Amino acid sequence: MPNVEHVTIIGSGPAGHTAALYTSRANLKPVMFEGFSAGGIPGGQLLTTTEVENYPGFPEGIQGPALMEAFRKQSVRFETRIFTEDVVRVDLSRHPFTVASAERELTTRSLILATGAAAKRLQLPSEPKLWNKGISACAVCDGALPIFRNKPLVVVGGGDSAAEESTFLTKFASKVYLVHRRGELRASKIMQERVLKHPKIEVIWNTVVADVLGDEAVSGVRLKEVTTGRERTVACGGLFYAIGFTPNTDLVAGQLELDRDGYIVTAPGSTRTSVPGVFACGDVQDKKYRQAVTAAGSGCMAAIDCERWLAAAAA
Ligand code: NAP
Repeated sequence: MPNVEHVTIIGSGPAGHTAALYTSRANLKPVMFEGFSAGGIPGGQLLTTTEVENYPGFPEGIQGPALMEAFRKQSVRFETRIFTEDVVRVDLSRHPFTVASAERELTTRSLILATGAAAKRLQLPSEPKLWNKGISACAVCDGALPIFRNKPLVVVGGGDSAAEESTFLTKFASKVYLVHRRGELRASKIMQERVLKHPKIEVIWNTVVADVLGDEAVSGVRLKEVTTGRERTVACGGLFYAIGFTPNTDLVAGQLELDRDGYIVTAPGSTRTSVPGVFACGDVQDKKYRQAVTAAGSGCMAAIDCERWLAAAAA
């Protein structure tokens, strides 16, 4: 069939690029939509991380953006065609599948979904008014901005992101309050230790943010203690969310089986989805591990599953 791609990859984090590397080396001439603004920025969440110390092969650590640039270069070296465009429509009801961005539409025999997950928001009453005026879901991207310098800042969450972001923000803030809804952190022990012993970080336990205050810029937060219901105001110049992620599955909702939380369901031990010829890898199908290295590993699995599926379909 003319002009039908063998494999199209949507997403450009570690999962997408590893899938590109393996499918290109299998002579499948992959096309990748690396995204433009949907789901954040092309390159995925590593682009919003500073030091990555847990990706094997880098004994001194590596900056997230540098790691993603290396991934991308490797995909390009093996001739993956990369479009810096958001996919706006996918039709999985007919084979070959259709994938469309605002700029182009193509058909493809197989599809690898590696669209990742996006940071969650608290949906506070004043959030729309103050978004990007002192509220951010990415301390690493925004923390160095002048509006946050030498001011008290608030981070919400209790996981590794909250620990990492609050530690990072101590470089700029006069003080960092880490507001967590429970009495113990979910973060790994080593990250917890960094937070708990840091002289500039104060953890506010068993507390939620009821609203954010300010008109043109964030001036404080209204906190509510969960156990007593008692409210108080804390002055701050910024509010950073680190409360987890939502999988980027809008494109395929209603076309593929998703779980209760919206993640793509894959067959155990594989990257096969509910539609034959469609594979999913990385954070869009993984809420358990969510690491760069597990995303890359599942990208490799998707490429191998895809290659075998195409070979079987052609036989
Ligand atoms: P996470 O582990 O899901 O933690 C989310 C945190 O936000 C939890 O503490 C949760 O509270 C809290 N939370 C969720 N919804 C909330 C709400 N509506 N209001 C208040 N608090 C809320 O997410 P994450 O920290 O982003 O980490 C995601 C994954 O990435 C994890 O596997 C993590 O290990 C990994 N990660 C690794 C690194 C690193 O190693 N350098 C850095 C960042 C992330 P509860 O605890 O009460 O549920």
